[in-house]
Amino acid sequence: MTGRYDVIIIGTGAGGGTLASVLARSGKKILLLERGDFLPREKENWDPAQVFIDGRYVSEDTWFDAAGKPFQPQVHYFVGGATKMYGAALYRLRPADFGEITHEDGLSPAWPLSYEEMEPWYTRAEWLYQVHGAHGEDPTEGHWSKQYPWPAVTHEPRIEQISDSLRAGGYQPFHAPCGILLDEAHRAASACIRCDTCDGHPCLVHAKADAEVIAVRPALARENVTLLVNAKVERLETSPDGGLVTGVVVSRDGAREVYAGDIVAVCAGAAASAGILLQSASDRHPAGLANASDQVGRNYMFHNSNAVVGIDKQLNETVFQKTLGINDFYFAANGREWPLGNIQMVGKSNWAAMKGEEPKLTKLVPRMALEEVARHAVDFWLTTEDVPRPDNRVTVDRNGDVHLAYSQTNETEARGLYRELRKIINDVGMAAHHLLQKNFYMNMAIPIAGVAHQAGTCRFGTDPATSVLDVNCKAHQLDNLYVVDTSFMPSIGAVNPGLTVMANAIRVGEHLLQRMA
Ligand SMILES: Cc1cc2nc3c(=O)[nH]c(=O)nc-3n(C[C@H](O)[C@H](O)[C@H](O)COP(=O)(O)OP(=O)(O)OC[C@H]3O[C@@H](n4cnc5c(N)ncnc54)[C@H](O)[C@@H]3O)c2cc1C
Repeated sequence: MTGRYDVIIIGTGAGGGTLASVLARSGKKILLLERGDFLPREKENWDPAQVFIDGRYVSEDTWFDAAGKPFQPQVHYFVGGATKMYGAALYRLRPADFGEITHEDGLSPAWPLSYEEMEPWYTRAEWLYQVHGAHGEDPTEGHWSKQYPWPAVTHEPRIEQISDSLRAGGYQPFHAPCGILLDEAHRAASACIRCDTCDGHPCLVHAKADAEVIAVRPALARENVTLLVNAKVERLETSPDGGLVTGVVVSRDGAREVYAGDIVAVCAGAAASAGILLQSASDRHPAGLANASDQVGRNYMFHNSNAVVGIDKQLNETVFQKTLGINDFYFAANGREWPLGNIQMVGKSNWAAMKGEEPKLTKLVPRMALEEVARHAVDFWLTTEDVPRPDNRVTVDRNGDVHLAYSQTNETEARGLYRELRKIINDVGMAAHHLLQKNFYMNMAIPIAGVAHQAGTCRFGTDPATSVLDVNCKAHQLDNLYVVDTSFMPSIGAVNPGLTVMANAIRVGEHLLQRMA
């Protein structure tokens, strides 16, 4: 045994990093095990060609689809996890998302807790991650107990025009919530220089509110917190009766190490966390750890998303574009049979992103032509909810390789949202026939590889027969095993999952502090 800790946290992303930041102040001995290393701060962080064409920060993993075909998942193994690359659009789920919602392809199930129970944790997460926004603008949002810590990021002129035109057309646009270290009132003292690289890039100046900057680094300032990087957790060992995790088996620098913790929190991301549990099968847990329900790895979701570029006649010289959101079509209402989802703006198109996302389409197009298209581009991100299906699942083979069987859901709803966007585009003066559908960080050419919003593989619930975790995210079957990343989500809603994972990690962290006290 290499060492003994009060808590071992596996993975340092939105879930694990946030959990560490809550537990750090307890003085308990905490070990963070992270498969990746610190993401290097280098000029390539901001180089779209390096990021989008060369995939500099994408892992070299190979996963396999249901037919056994290999693909390269868009995963990023670094301290901070996927948040190193995320767009930091930090939305709350709507209150209705915590209840049952009927979709064309099935039910989005109810959560074992309500929005009201989650609300205080959302507020804490918004304050921890320095979210900029304006509660009260979006008519679909739920009750909020405290305004955002920072005012909404201001629209640049073209986005302000679009927002005004939308309002004139009867829509209800709002300022999108965004986690960045920006102080618009004191620009000289602001870490964020308001460049155009939040979405999909690491931030060279550490001005994006990612889990490394906001949670992990501050936690490491305390003596009771230790981080091991390049430490890949392979499996978990249990006590003879199977009721406790007694060993965390790690491969690090080519060696096998085993660590023990009174509490073990798996926060490796929805696919990897399920993989670790399945890899930990033993006589006591023949189907994998915590898997008596046969639910581990099932109900994988990742949103039915669409990135759409509007090519405007007018130049769009916006730099920081993702300041606007529209939830007018979130619910089934006003004659719409189905809920359609969320529309938000994303990082501005650039020639390298276009080449990286559409290599075949853009192969013969010269860089200058793409640059000109990008100068006129107005970029939207459409998110439709993906419903959980038992057969959309992660499994591992005898070599430990991840297999992901997935078929997309709610296609009619996604198409409906796209149609609504076309109407909107007309309303704000951009011709709808100038819309191009494009791939973005959800790679639609190989849809399964776009795992940015992966969730749902170890859902929480009150019934051990249909869920993996209890309401505190503790495995039903084991007394000291928790899963605290997007795996716990029984449904994914139609907004980005990051803030929900962070809020939940704070909630579980407070539960663990009480338990350890
Ligand atoms: C390009 C991109 C843009 C995004 N934009 C947004 C956005 O704007 N808003 C939003 O809300 N969400 C966004 N997301 C999604 C968001 O980042 C994720 O939902 C969130 O980070 C998931 O948190 P997590 O804790 O489940 O996993 P992660 O944050 O990925 O953390 C998992 C961690 O576990 C580590 N790990 C994996 N396997 C092992 C192992 N075997 N042993 C040890 N460590 C391991 C990983 O290296 C990683 O550090 C985006 C994601 C991407 C990739």
